[in-house]
Amino acid sequence: MTEKFDVVVIGGGPGGYVAAIRCAQLGLSTACIDRTVNTEGKPSLGGTCLNIGCIPSKALLDSSERYEQAMSGLTAHGIDIEGVSLNLTKMQARKEKIVSELTSGVGMLLKANKIKVLHGHGRLHKNRDISVECVDGSIESISGNHIILATGSTPITLPSLPIDEDVIVDSTGALEFNTVPVSLGIIGAGVIGLELGSVWRRLGAKVTILEAAADFLALADKNVRREALKQLKKQGLKIKLGAMVKRADVNDGKCDVEYELNNKVESEEFDKLIVAVGRKPVTDGLFDDDCLIETDSKGFIVVDDHCNTSMAGVYAVGDVVRGPMLAHKASEEGVAVAERISTGHGHVDFNTVPWVIYTHPEIAWVGKTEDECAAANIKTNCGTFAFAATGRAKAMGETAGFVKIIADAKTDLVLGAHIVGPHASELIAELVLAMEYKASAEDLARTIHAHPTLSEAVHESALAVEKRAIHKAN
Ligand code: FAD
Ligand code: NAD
Repeated sequence: MTEKFDVVVIGGGPGGYVAAIRCAQLGLSTACIDRTVNTEGKPSLGGTCLNIGCIPSKALLDSSERYEQAMSGLTAHGIDIEGVSLNLTKMQARKEKIVSELTSGVGMLLKANKIKVLHGHGRLHKNRDISVECVDGSIESISGNHIILATGSTPITLPSLPIDEDVIVDSTGALEFNTVPVSLGIIGAGVIGLELGSVWRRLGAKVTILEAAADFLALADKNVRREALKQLKKQGLKIKLGAMVKRADVNDGKCDVEYELNNKVESEEFDKLIVAVGRKPVTDGLFDDDCLIETDSKGFIVVDDHCNTSMAGVYAVGDVVRGPMLAHKASEEGVAVAERISTGHGHVDFNTVPWVIYTHPEIAWVGKTEDECAAANIKTNCGTFAFAATGRAKAMGETAGFVKIIADAKTDLVLGAHIVGPHASELIAELVLAMEYKASAEDLARTIHAHPTLSEAVHESALAVEKRAIHKAN
């Protein structure tokens, strides 16, 4: 017999499991289907984010940063440490433990919210039934009045760069190395290339990043791009811009990479190669053709501003639809859909989705860049303030970078904020809130910020919008 639910969610990542929890909180009977199994073959909820994305990468970023600090970062503080050594097996085991605790935590949350969980591949049929090929080999059938598709994304692969998960790996393999490669090539200076390149450089690899685009981090504000590139290069990341990789072959356990740079074909040999050239939506076997769910030329499920697909009562959220591929964007869409199903209201403000890149220094932004404002003919006033001029950053020995706030010249509304510097990932929250509440730069400037904190750089950059920062010559 087909069990019936108010809502069935396919996908248990940050889009799907959060949507399921919000539905259950709103009193809707809910089921969640997810097919991920871990390396031991056991079902593991949490999607890309918890299993092979945000969380394991941040665990390694944190561990590798501590290692680098212990190796060389503490001498300026008068702390000399001898005999520092790397135990990569333990570092990886720590990462696995964090993943395991968080993924089983999602299972407990779903259970506590009385959500039925089915571990297996879900497929939607025209009559709204969903058949599930469970990982234990059984087949189940359930149906939902409303269906939320949250099947996420997977790395883009190119035939000329064949992944063997040994020498040539994608982001998943790049989290699993059990020795530090002497030389590491990375294709793509995007978010993954920069974060995982930072991990392995800190642990001792010689890292070269080959990036096809001539511009570095084209999405970010121009001042941030310049400063981030300068800082990352200074740390020893070799970043070659305008290098279009053509092919990679493995010979005798090493990888030969051929790329075109300045109209010349060049090649380089690496011990390992990470391919990080973007991600694509996952919709394999997700719905029958006669469901008439529209996808675009890149495979994304087409949705409107409220995540409605072309099939009535079927919604799609997260990486499988347009917009930035970020865990918090997926979750907020999931919440908005759940609330629309239950109450008729629910909304995501795509202008205030923060971006964070967890390099050192961190990079974070929200809203428009200065160039985007210029392209839209919006006159702006910008205020910037360097961390080097704040007492707290000096005390921490973390003086690289700045905060930049962009305000509308007419209304003073904050249109965008861009940070490169220490704890940018945390500092950006104040600016997201400011934009969410339609704050002006003056609102931020008149808000008391504790001394000495890094947030004083946010305060001073808001003051600098009106050329009245205190600790800088305006
Ligand atoms: P996913 O997390 O991909 O979840 C989809 C789930 O659906 C998966 O478990 C999948 O197995 C399952 N599924 C697919 N098809 C079916 C089916 N037919 N039946 C049943 N189940 C199915 N984002 C950030 O915001 N911050 C970060 O720091 C960050 N770091 C990242 C680091 C790395 C290395 C990577 C790869 C990604 C990172 N991301 C980060 C991106 C983030 O992981 C994604 O944006 C987020 O996971 C998207 O959530 P989702 O729910 O849409 O999809
Ligand atoms: P990306 O789109 O950020 O970067 C891919 C890069 O590869 C681009 O700069 C592109 O120009 C380059 N490229 C493509 N083909 C190439 C070729 N043949 N030769 C050389 N360069 C080439 O993609 P990603 O780094 O794979 O990350 C995917 C997504 O995952 C991100 O866009 C982001 O949404 C998400 N993510 C987020 C975080 C975070 O929020 N901190 C961390 C990791 C991943």
